[in-house]
Amino acid sequence: MTETQTTEPVIQINQLTKSYNHRPALNNVNLQVQKGETVVIFGPNGAGKTTLLKILSTAIKPTSGRVSINGFDLKKDADEIRRCIGVVSHHSSLYGSLTACENLEFYALLYDIVNIRQRAREVAATVGMTSCLHDRIDTFSRGMQQRIAIARSILHNPSVLLMDEPETGLDQQAVSMLWSLLEKGEYTILLTTHSLERGLELADRVIILNKGKISLEEPAGDMDLKSCRQAYFDLTGRRS
Ligand code: ATP
Repeated sequence: MTETQTTEPVIQINQLTKSYNHRPALNNVNLQVQKGETVVIFGPNGAGKTTLLKILSTAIKPTSGRVSINGFDLKKDADEIRRCIGVVSHHSSLYGSLTACENLEFYALLYDIVNIRQRAREVAATVGMTSCLHDRIDTFSRGMQQRIAIARSILHNPSVLLMDEPETGLDQQAVSMLWSLLEKGEYTILLTTHSLERGLELADRVIILNKGKISLEEPAGDMDLKSCRQAYFDLTGRRS
């Protein structure tokens, strides 16, 4: 008899609920993401996408439920989780009065990276920002800041990326750069976007979150843009 090998999901979410002032933003969400998989979450404003990613990135605590990443329990092992995730959120968390280089080196220090100068330059090059490394963040456009935020998210070679509308503010070239980075298969990715088209390009699996619940979960290969748009509209009652 051949032994079946089962691997633990990298992200495991069980019965996750988050309420703000007794109003549920996430309601009993269950989700598993396998190693190397890219799961893209679509959903209208207020669906709970950011809340979900904030919980996974340890920024806020759930009301109830269980989450583990790489086998680490969110409640008990938050520090270990922070070391293995790269996060791009709505807030860049960059220091405006520091240069891009100083920001990257500061975060590299926090992660105990050995050669911080070299690593800061490497990730800046990845996002096409080498020529601006010594300029202050508060002189950067929204898109330039987003590029540095993306660079910061991969500084410590995380195995998991949690990205909340990461293409916000990016020009076409930067979106292509980001999508190529994410397509490399180096990471396990949970990503939200309002662009069905771009999300489908990247996704292995598609989720539609609506009113705090997963209302659709399908392999991306089973969907084209038209069917995805139709499902989104049927389930949410809104045009994407
Ligand atoms: P968007 O597409 O606009 O970014 P979203 O899907 O990310 O929306 P969330 O930001 O997770 O949605 O919000 C989900 C629900 O939780 C919304 O009803 C929102 O008003 C509520 N909410 C989010 N943060 C808070 C907070 N700090 N206090 C109270 N309610 C909140």
